Amino acid sequence: MSKTIAINAGSSSLKWQLYAMPEEKVLAKGIIERIGLKDSISTVKFDGRAESQTLDIVDHVQAVKLLLEDLLKFGIIQDYAEITGVGHRVVAGGEYFTDSVLIDDEVLAKIEELASLAPLHNPANVDGIRAFKEILPDITSVAVFDTAFHTTLPEVAYRYPIAEKYYQDYKVRKYGAHGTSHYYVSRQAAEMLGRPVEDLKLITAHIGNGISISAIDGGKSVDTSMGFTPLAGPMMGTRSGDIDPAIIPYLVAQVPELENAADVIDVLNKESGVLGVAEASSDMRDVEAGRASGDAKMTLAFDMLVDRLKKFIGQYFAVLNGADALIFTAGIGENSDQVREAVVEGLSWFGMKLEPGKNVFGAVGDISTADSKVKVLVVPTDEELVIARDVERLKA
Ligand code: AMP
Repeated sequence: MSKTIAINAGSSSLKWQLYAMPEEKVLAKGIIERIGLKDSISTVKFDGRAESQTLDIVDHVQAVKLLLEDLLKFGIIQDYAEITGVGHRVVAGGEYFTDSVLIDDEVLAKIEELASLAPLHNPANVDGIRAFKEILPDITSVAVFDTAFHTTLPEVAYRYPIAEKYYQDYKVRKYGAHGTSHYYVSRQAAEMLGRPVEDLKLITAHIGNGISISAIDGGKSVDTSMGFTPLAGPMMGTRSGDIDPAIIPYLVAQVPELENAADVIDVLNKESGVLGVAEASSDMRDVEAGRASGDAKMTLAFDMLVDRLKKFIGQYFAVLNGADALIFTAGIGENSDQVREAVVEGLSWFGMKLEPGKNVFGAVGDISTADSKVKVLVVPTDEELVIARDVERLKA
């Protein structure tokens, strides 16, 4: 039995999950938050226990050291030699990476080079990779890219209607994101439907704090709502999603505290979307509670989110010229029967109908009626498992 760690490093956090492979058994998982700040918090969950500690962690190397020491301390492993592989989620793979890869110096240099496409994420991913290389230099190290699954997009979908030089010289194109999630849930859905993914047209709706919708034809991503960056698409928890780009210079000219385009982008990333409209929260549970008690802003945020989701899903019915199934996943997609109901209700013309008794909290699998032309499925996503599987695949 070998043990593999899946790592998801953010700018100030590091999420991890330890698997026994090939059994795919989760042995432990955890998160280290507030890296580089005072009072960092590390939480380890294993055997039904949750252990938290607060201490100052200056960087990702120290975070990795702490997580490895905790694995020993809590008896989850007896020796570092038991860990044979690590898989790192990397947000931007650009046009270089169409699949997961073993990480060598050249790969690492490319991931660093791609930081301009994901300035918040790729440098953190590189820090995580370096930290493991320093502490466990001999284990299999794999990069799993959020963008890889979307490298099958046809040019008609990935190009923006702007002059070619901006694509050729500056690499401005749609890259998408959440690729591991769209890949995983499309395969799970095919299994649930009892049909080969190659025969299916699927629309996958990853609706969490970040949101992306994908059109998947025969197992391949052919369009997706995130764009050059993860700011594009439907409105999200704190991100605006698609807006008229002319708003950006207008706000710079009009609003004293917004000095340049980067300031506006920051607002569009962090203070917009559901949070911008609802004001009190970006959390869908709060929004649903507010809506139930008649709060106008919460109700508008809910309705606007459903409106944007419907429009993107509708677009992808057009891209695919019909679909066999719509798949809901991620925090909201998996848990909110209200969002699912409102979205499907508003798209009933396309031939989708929910079975009321099935569209309930905790539902997994087919939630549509037997005669629903387009099936509607809830499929819990598992990006960490895809990462662990890719480490196994590339180790062989
Ligand atoms: P994620 O980014 O996938 O972790 O999803 C986070 C989002 O899922 C947040 O907006 C949560 O409010 C939402 N969420 C989690 N559980 C529920 C629930 N039971 N009902 C509605 N939304 C939920």
